Amino acid sequence: MSSRMYKPTDHVIKKSYLPSIQKYKEMYERSLTESELFWTEVAQEFQWHVAPKPGGFMKYNFDITKGRVFVKFMEEAELNVCYNLLDRNVKNGFGDKIAFFWEGNSPDDYTRITYRKLLDLVCQFANGLLAKGIRKGDRVAVYMPMILEAVICMLACARIGAVHTVVFAGFSSDALAERLSDAKAKLLVTADGAWRGERMYVYKRTCDDAIEKARTFFKHRVDMCMVVNHLDRVTPGGSLKSEIKDLYNWNEETDIWWHEVLEGESNICPPEWVAAEDPLFVLYTSGSTGKPKGVVHTTAGYLMYAAATFRYVFDYHRRDVYWCTADVGWITGHTYVVYAPLANAATSVMFEGTPYFPKVDRYWSIINKYKVTQFYTAPTAIRALMAHYNVEDGNLTMPDLSSLRVLGSVGEPINPAAWLWYYTRIGKERCSIVDTFWQTETGGHVITGLPGATPMKPGAAGFPFFGVEPKILNEDGIEIEGPGEGYLVFARPWPGMMRTLLEDQDRFERVYFSKFPGYYCTGDGVRRDEDGYLWITGRIDDMLNVSGHLMSTAEVEGVLASDPRVSEAAVVPKPHEVKGEALYCFVVLKEGLQFDADLVKTLTLLVRQKIGAFAAPDTIQNAPGLPKTRSGKIMRRILRKIAVGDHEVGDISTLADPGVVEELFNNRPAEA
Ligand code: ATP
Ligand code: MG
Repeated sequence: MSSRMYKPTDHVIKKSYLPSIQKYKEMYERSLTESELFWTEVAQEFQWHVAPKPGGFMKYNFDITKGRVFVKFMEEAELNVCYNLLDRNVKNGFGDKIAFFWEGNSPDDYTRITYRKLLDLVCQFANGLLAKGIRKGDRVAVYMPMILEAVICMLACARIGAVHTVVFAGFSSDALAERLSDAKAKLLVTADGAWRGERMYVYKRTCDDAIEKARTFFKHRVDMCMVVNHLDRVTPGGSLKSEIKDLYNWNEETDIWWHEVLEGESNICPPEWVAAEDPLFVLYTSGSTGKPKGVVHTTAGYLMYAAATFRYVFDYHRRDVYWCTADVGWITGHTYVVYAPLANAATSVMFEGTPYFPKVDRYWSIINKYKVTQFYTAPTAIRALMAHYNVEDGNLTMPDLSSLRVLGSVGEPINPAAWLWYYTRIGKERCSIVDTFWQTETGGHVITGLPGATPMKPGAAGFPFFGVEPKILNEDGIEIEGPGEGYLVFARPWPGMMRTLLEDQDRFERVYFSKFPGYYCTGDGVRRDEDGYLWITGRIDDMLNVSGHLMSTAEVEGVLASDPRVSEAAVVPKPHEVKGEALYCFVVLKEGLQFDADLVKTLTLLVRQKIGAFAAPDTIQNAPGLPKTRSGKIMRRILRKIAVGDHEVGDISTLADPGVVEELFNNRPAEA
């Protein structure tokens, strides 16, 4: 199943910038051999206060044995990102173009905003920030639902040279307090609350708690909290209105409403010209593997890279309507909801709600409503939605999705069953799927297919993006050429990569550069097949070694999830006296299905058949759900603890639903 190739269809090719794999290869070669020329062409689209100087755009050291690690791109240039996303587009005639179709939690609540209007509001808010004393280099924390004010706030920061740090608004007050303090945020911008599905979230209350905790536990004082009054607008029937005010505190000295910040402010705000290497934002990684890291991204390189990846990976054309479902609290939301689409004068959809409200067809109905051409989401969402439809009998009622051309996937390897469902049911076998591998640290896509160019293999990420030079290393740091499996590293920097970890250069070097001096180490495993395709095999820590056979969790999970009854699977190693490690599998079934001995038998057989007898699972546990980060990734380190019955699970503050951990402990099969 996984080795079949799917060629891009005419539907995609006829519009594509790169209509063949040859074109990709030529351009890729050129991006490495004539790197400066390549990025000069990208830079020409943008407006510079001081233009980049030819002759050595990229300066770097990746080798810790030779000194400190650094990356600098177009160092002497000066620009402003906000100016390039808004003013430049308005000047180029896109003032009346829709920047965002905003779709609220309720299908009756929607609006749109043009480039000109967005510029006006950003300038007004930027002036408001200046009036409150926020200056270049100050850190502004953002804890917001998916509303336009979140975008306005990020861009206003960029306009005045302030550094935003967006914290996903699903995080607890503890997690927020830690990030506020680590980033030394002066200001916190939030909303009173929002509805997601049928649940109301009171963000202001979480912010109150977080500011208090930052003060008492970390001795960090946040000077001000700006609050968007969003609940008043969206609370059904207004019945809750009076009660809402009692749900959080209001501190007259430090709290201020967003609309009051805007009051009397001009919609003209000259941009602050900043250096190419000045920080644009700090973003904490999702914390799948431990304490979150404050990743620092800078200005020129990030913008160039975001713009270029968006154009080619989504094959964006002027009249397209693009939609990325990621939250602005994640890097995907930063790069591919905010910066990259606006850099391309794109029209995007921004969605506040959940895929299940009011019905499970919400995503599809939004695609239909706005005639979305590019749709970008995560495998976890695809699998969850897939489970609601009966794949077997084709009993699928969906609105017309024929506007679609490109489907994107991000966040983890997409298992072939989910890929096929996405391809056939959503893409109607005529759209290209781009499986985009990247990280908070990489700033933009680094390994991916390109819609018109790359024949697709379900589950393979594909090939490097322009300017990116991946290598596969074995444990000893020896390069594996040709087909093989090992550590995914990069041999040279690309413009959009991280520059350091916030105030922790040592950790930056230790985490990414100490294992293999001279290389950026992703921490992910990768396999190259005989056609040169790269397959991300998951985090290196998640490899399984059974009786000397090395395999990836993703591989086994893909097989388990190919059974039509299985909605999702996670596999972890469990120490075994003879084999070294044995497979412990967690299986989530589709709604209403029964877990029984027969299923266990079938699944075991399936793994034996597809991978080999050595891979036969020792344990298959029925799981009501899986422990996931708030970005939807499985925290396998917790599953490893459950597999061995060790209750010392460590920090679970970044879990979406901590309750599931106890349930899984209780559900362990007797023989485990
Ligand atoms: P932390 O670094 O704090 O543990 P995290 O790695 O989950 O958190 P992100 O930067 O959001 O934080 O995720 C990047 C990781 O997601 C990659 O290193 C990889 O493991 C996985 N990933 C992302 N996209 C893909 C993809 N298309 N295919 C396979 N894996 C992917
Ligand atoms: Mg990571």
